[in-house]
Amino acid sequence: MSVDLHAHSNRSDGSDEPADLVGKAAAKKLTAVALTDHDTLEGIDEARRAAETLSMELIPGVEISCEWAQGTMHVVVLFVESGPGPLQDRLAELQASRSQRNYKITDRLRRLGIDITMEEVIDESRVGVVGRPHFAAVLVRKGVVADIPTAFTDYLGNQAPAYVPRLRLEPEEAISLARASGGVPILSHPHTLGHTSANEFAATYRRLTAAGLVGIDAYYGDYTPDQREDLAATARSFGLIPSGGSDYHGSYKEGLELGSGRGDLDVPDSVLEELRSVHQKLVGAP
Ligand SMILES: [Zn+2]
Ligand SMILES: [Zn+2]
Repeated sequence: MSVDLHAHSNRSDGSDEPADLVGKAAAKKLTAVALTDHDTLEGIDEARRAAETLSMELIPGVEISCEWAQGTMHVVVLFVESGPGPLQDRLAELQASRSQRNYKITDRLRRLGIDITMEEVIDESRVGVVGRPHFAAVLVRKGVVADIPTAFTDYLGNQAPAYVPRLRLEPEEAISLARASGGVPILSHPHTLGHTSANEFAATYRRLTAAGLVGIDAYYGDYTPDQREDLAATARSFGLIPSGGSDYHGSYKEGLELGSGRGDLDVPDSVLEELRSVHQKLVGAP
């Protein structure tokens, strides 16, 4: 019995409709799937309706981008519902600031002599959260740059002329808002943190555990079986639950399937039951 607790739909940067993603999870005979789009809960209601029709379990979730200078820190939060709440309200505020940021990026690109409008970028994203990858796609389509990486190095990256910083949650704030909303916070793909030594990882795990982190994405789609086992053992040594999922993005991440990842992923459903019991304590369920 397997589950997948990390997957993206087209409400952020995946290619599948939320309902189609749930349909694929059912076809793969997963017992549960979590929808964890970046910084938005927009797809949850649609995914839940599909899950009810197919009699499978949907875990509502979100993946939050945190402020982290050394690299990229993402925190997956499971069991967080759409609608009002401490985390939900803060995400809505961040989304408003993100939209302002997109207008600023458009303005900078235009000042650099590029003919681009916000409408074109919104069209590129079709639905959901609009961000730099969509600007990059428009720049490629218009022939301004040859490919997506060049769009980032020449225009959109952190050191590039059209870069506008984005408002992000501090890790501690994301974790405490998650818990206040009954959500279970899990550190995603630790390899992106920018750490090179075991001591650095340990310091971060201790810091986040003190803040209320519950798990680490150990059974991660892009890791080798050995890496997964190592990370699962590390998680346990810090009192954390080894969670996991494919980080499925549909056709935007070639060869990475829901549930099975690159073919060798198998997230045991016992992990979900451990995470669920933490969620039940957070919401005071008997
Ligand atoms: Zn991520
Ligand atoms: Zn992800």
